[in-house]
Amino acid sequence: MRFPLSLTANLTKYLAGKAIRGEKKFPLVMMLEPLHACNLTCTGCGRIREYKGTINEMLTVEQCIAALDDCGAPIVSICGGEPLIYPEIGRLVKEILARKKNIYLCTNGMFIRKRLQEFKPTSRFFFNVHLDGLEKTHDLCVERDGVFRDAIEGIKAAKAAGFLVCSNTTIYKETDIEEVAELFAFLRTLGVDGNMLSPAYSYASVQTKDIFMSREDVHEKFQRASKLLEQFNVITSPIYMEFLRGERNLMCTAWGNPTYNPRGWKGPCYLMTDEHHKTFGDLINNTPWEKYGYGRDPRCENCMVQSGYEASAVLGGNHKFGDTWKMLQWQVSGRLGGRKGANASSNGAPKQNGNGHKTNKTSTAVPAAGAQAREKEEAFRIL
Ligand code: SF4
Repeated sequence: MRFPLSLTANLTKYLAGKAIRGEKKFPLVMMLEPLHACNLTCTGCGRIREYKGTINEMLTVEQCIAALDDCGAPIVSICGGEPLIYPEIGRLVKEILARKKNIYLCTNGMFIRKRLQEFKPTSRFFFNVHLDGLEKTHDLCVERDGVFRDAIEGIKAAKAAGFLVCSNTTIYKETDIEEVAELFAFLRTLGVDGNMLSPAYSYASVQTKDIFMSREDVHEKFQRASKLLEQFNVITSPIYMEFLRGERNLMCTAWGNPTYNPRGWKGPCYLMTDEHHKTFGDLINNTPWEKYGYGRDPRCENCMVQSGYEASAVLGGNHKFGDTWKMLQWQVSGRLGGRKGANASSNGAPKQNGNGHKTNKTSTAVPAAGAQAREKEEAFRIL
């Protein structure tokens, strides 16, 4: 199974309830930002720049829970900022789990070891560790040496304690997909349960614009990514991947991933801010959704991010015949838990196949990357 059964069951029940009630705009994943403060200053991060003036503000656990009850999403992505510097993160997770929700705690991984004892392993809770490449690349992206190693130690500790762990990689213009394949191969040997991918969004507040991609760049990058990464437990849906490869259109359904932070409900989406709303109802009912998305707002022109489009096949009326079967096949063809201790092939890539992504490819082997690959293998050995 690609995801824990509890997540699939929870989501299926939720979607069936919405269909019966005929609801059109509802959330799937609540993006909960209890704070925007972070111990890092990553190059592509819009949050620490956009919320510079309120960086020291944080929500109380009670405010977080009230917002969750307000929107009712079945999945909560706790992000920020760095959630593991939120003082009451343990209590917040406990309260959300008590509401039978599924959680992805998105972290740079540096404080997993320090705070691990505040959590209990369950199939409804994932540590989602952000890694943009192997050691050299990742430390460059986050602008600090040693972050990759700390994150890897955190992953090892979490896996040893029985937690579910996935990784999240942002793809930039300069991202080397072969390196991402090597990263996934390495993570699989640590028992990491899945790998997410999303193209970067060009935040207005990020000045380094040449790291971001056009739609055409995204198509090209993800055509390559699909071929190289299909052998891993990629937990980015096959329909969203078709969109990223340029094989189908999806409409933005930003209301499916609403963001709540110390300023309120961020509208229209996780990436752009035109207004903060006091209630979820106000965000849904008073946002002019028809003005946003590709071809409608210049800020949306090159946006293909997960929080805008991954849920679109379900929420956006772009459903095609065969999609349900495709998603089902994808869920059962995946495998949680990596292959801890498994031998990687000579170039660092494991030999297993089958994540259900449709590509034109017949071979899944990662091509050797020469000296660079050997350098990275040496890094694996040291770790
Ligand atoms: S396309 Fe959607 S998710 Fe992307 S920036 Fe526009 S409104 Fe936000």
